[in-house]
Parts: sequence; structure tokens; C-alpha cells
Amino acid sequence: MDCLFCKIIERAIPSSKVYEDEMCYAFRDINPQAPVHVLVIPKLHFASMDEVTADNSKYVAHIFECIPKIAAAEGLSGGYRVISNCGDDACQSVKHIHFHILGGRQLSEEMA
Ligand code: 5GP
Ligand code: ZN
Repeated sequence: MDCLFCKIIERAIPSSKVYEDEMCYAFRDINPQAPVHVLVIPKLHFASMDEVTADNSKYVAHIFECIPKIAAAEGLSGGYRVISNCGDDACQSVKHIHFHILGGRQLSEEMA
């Protein structure tokens, strides 16, 4: 499978690791949109929110347990935003589901 984020999990492509456990991997976005911009991905390939099922939703639930811990470790005591782009209208560019954690400054009130 030719998936950039699977290659990052496998260390075939280098990344700046923030957190890792048996189900997920978190790393710094290569093109940060905020002082803290971390991507959290499951260690199971599925493309997007549209492919969440009863079989793989435990990965999503686990990621949402990890996000507050990652945010705290990154010093985001003032708050943060979590985004998952799904499909072309949302400009999803990597077809391995991922959750952006953005923070470290006052974010815009606009979400789109
Ligand atoms: P999307 O637009 O699909 O929601 O987000 C994909 C994100 O992956 C983008 O924010 C982009 O900067 C990031 N990205 C793309 N290629 C790489 C890479 O090779 N390494 C890292 N660390 N981030 C990447
Ligand atoms: Zn993948």
C-alpha cells in the first residue's frame, strides 16, 4: 500500500515523534499552521472518518483518550483545536485518517 502515513509509522519516512503506543502514533506536522501542530494517526490504515466502523472505531476512541494527554504534554493549557479533514471538500490530502491538534496561540474564531 502506497500510504505516506503508513510509511511514517513504519519509519520508512522520518518524522518528529511526539507520542506513540500500540494503537497510535503522533508526530509534528511538516507544515505547521500553529506553534503546536501535531498529527495523531491510528496504526491501522483506513482512509477517513467515512471509513470508521464498529471494527476500527476503538482506534478512534483510543486516539481521543490520547489527545488530552498529548495536548497537556505540549503545554496547551490555554486550549486547543482538533480537526479531521474528510474528503475533497475538506481538502483531505493524505488518505489515512488523522487528527490535527492545533494550539499554542489564540486560534481564529473561523473554522472554515
Ligand atoms: P490533511 O490536509 O490531509 O488534513 O492533512 C495532512 C497533513 O499532513 C498536512 O497538514 C501536511 O502538512 C502534513 N504532511 C504531509 N506530508 C507530510 C510529511 O511527510 N511529514 C509530516 N510530518 N507531515 C506531513
Ligand atoms: Zn496508511
